[in-house]
Formats: sequence, C-alpha cells, structure tokens
Amino acid sequence: MQAVYMICFFLFGICLGSFYTVVGLRMGKEENFITGRSYCDHCHHPLSFFDLIPLFSFLFLKGRCRYCKEKISPLSFIIELSTGLLFMIAYYSFGFSLDLLLLLLVISMSMILFVSDFTAMIIPDEILLVFGSLFFLVQIFREGFWMALLHIATGGFLFLLMYGLMLLGNFLFKKESLGGGDIKLLFVFGLVLDPILGILSIFLGSLLALPVSLLLYFKNKDHMIPFGPFLLVGLLLLLFSKITALDFFTFLGF
Ligand SMILES: [Zn+2]
Repeated sequence: MQAVYMICFFLFGICLGSFYTVVGLRMGKEENFITGRSYCDHCHHPLSFFDLIPLFSFLFLKGRCRYCKEKISPLSFIIELSTGLLFMIAYYSFGFSLDLLLLLLVISMSMILFVSDFTAMIIPDEILLVFGSLFFLVQIFREGFWMALLHIATGGFLFLLMYGLMLLGNFLFKKESLGGGDIKLLFVFGLVLDPILGILSIFLGSLLALPVSLLLYFKNKDHMIPFGPFLLVGLLLLLFSKITALDFFTFLGF
C-alpha cells in the first residue's frame, strides 16, 4: 500500500510543480496566474491541454514547441520532477503527519521561489505572506499556540540577524550584498525552524552558494546570483535530515 501512496504523492507533486512554475514565472513578470492562459515564449501560440501535461509533454515533444519547434526552457520539467520526487520522499520519511504537511508546504514555497528568484531575482512578498501564514497555522496544531508564537519571535531574530549580515556585507564588499527578499525569507524560516537550526540554515545556504558565486565571479565580475534558492536548499536539507538543535550540539561535543 505504501508504494501506491508514494506514486500518488509523486503524481500530486508533478501536477503542483507545473502550477508552481507558472506562479513563479508570472510573479516574476507580474502577470495574473489565475486567468491568464499559457503560451509559447517564442511564437506566443496559446498552449493546449496536450502541451501542458506535467513531465510528459516535455518528453513527448522532445523539449520543443509543437507550433514553432523552438526549444522550450527545461525549467518547468525540472520543477515538476523535483516537486514530484520531493513529495514522494517526504511521504516516505514522515508518513501521514503534521510534519509531512509542514514539509509539503515548505517544498511548495521553495519551488515557487526557485522559479521567481532564478528567472527574475524576485522573492514576492505575497508568497512569503501566504506560506508564512500557513506555516504558523500548522505550527499551532503541531506544537501548540504558545510555541507557534515563539516561532514568530524566532522569525524576528533571524530577520535581524540576516539584516545585520547584509549591513556587514555591504560594508565589506562596498555594494549591495543581500536582497530585501532574502531577509524577509529568513523571517519565514523562523516559523519552521528553531533559532539554532535557523542560524545553521544561513550557514548552509552560504556554504552552498560560495562555490557557485566564486565560479561566476571569475567568469563575470558583475554577475549577481540569487541567494534565496541556496537558503531554501539549506532549509530543505535540514528538514529532510530530521536534525534537531540537540543533535547539533551533541555533534559539536557539548
Ligand atoms: Zn512556439
């Protein structure tokens, strides 16, 4: 039975992944994602139902538009596949639980922000607000009202910490080091993590971003990379690993 559920979570994930790509892309372009129809970026031909089947359309069309034969960006395919796989692994690791619900929401937010931050360097406030509220709501059921409130304080702490890092970065590099979106994103991290894991998520995000930024720095000195996706990968790694602050201190030898 578990295998059936895993397949269901995978299929559910790829369908949502398709929707998240559209939301992320249109948030970046400030288009309406509810009423607007999908169209090819090259020939602007409206896409039909058969062009929009998650994963399969891209595979059957061999990554090309059915109308103008131009290459389609693999972004949608990558986001669909990642969402499907992550949903499946999340169910496998956490079973039906509030932990699973929280993780599915974190994956969902991450996918939308990957798309908007990579394509337009934007972390939309609306997305943070919607998912932040959902995280808070789940935390009330998961940990109780007072612990949920404590998460808001953790969010405030991480927000200020990130703000401090931005000021430090601006001073050291003499240019804008972090976007406002990254700072607000850390507030939302606080709704999911405790303070120790929150700090760890910033550290992990920086560690992941470092090789990429160094590589780009030597290729093109003015190139900016979005930091949000790295922070989100760090957050997902922490949640999937089920690590707790206590594990971390034990690891350090306290
Ligand atoms: Zn086309």
